[in-house]
Amino acid sequence: MKYLRIAPHFVVKMGIQGLGVFATKNFKRGKTLFKLNGEVINHPTRTSIQIVKNKHVENIIGGYVNHSCKPSAKVNRRKKTFVSLRNIDKGDEITFDYNKNEDVLACPFRCRCCGRKIVGRKKLALKSKRGKRSYSAQHQSHHIHTR
Ligand SMILES: [Zn+2]
Repeated sequence: MKYLRIAPHFVVKMGIQGLGVFATKNFKRGKTLFKLNGEVINHPTRTSIQIVKNKHVENIIGGYVNHSCKPSAKVNRRKKTFVSLRNIDKGDEITFDYNKNEDVLACPFRCRCCGRKIVGRKKLALKSKRGKRSYSAQHQSHHIHTR
């Protein structure tokens, strides 16, 4: 499979962290990219997108969108849409920051661009309460493990 067309303006192909969603046309900043239609469930999965507490949508396009710490898009929870955060060119990958949108990730992982642990914003909040010293110690050990 070279790519799979999943919507008129989007294809799925190999991206920065595995399969990802790529635009096949240009979008201006602040535009609705697609709607999060789909089944709503009460717990997160590997592919779900959180829209409110305990509500997660399984959307065909959204399920393939990769995480980035410098994302090209974000979730508009009220409208249940993906919105571009900058001008997106044809061929650009659509990404969003999982740590900003998801409370808890079903499958936490290490970000490939920066090595940060992507766990969800609730777990991040817990971590920062534990104090800076233990956080930085933990951070350093990450680097030793990843190099
Ligand atoms: Zn990162």
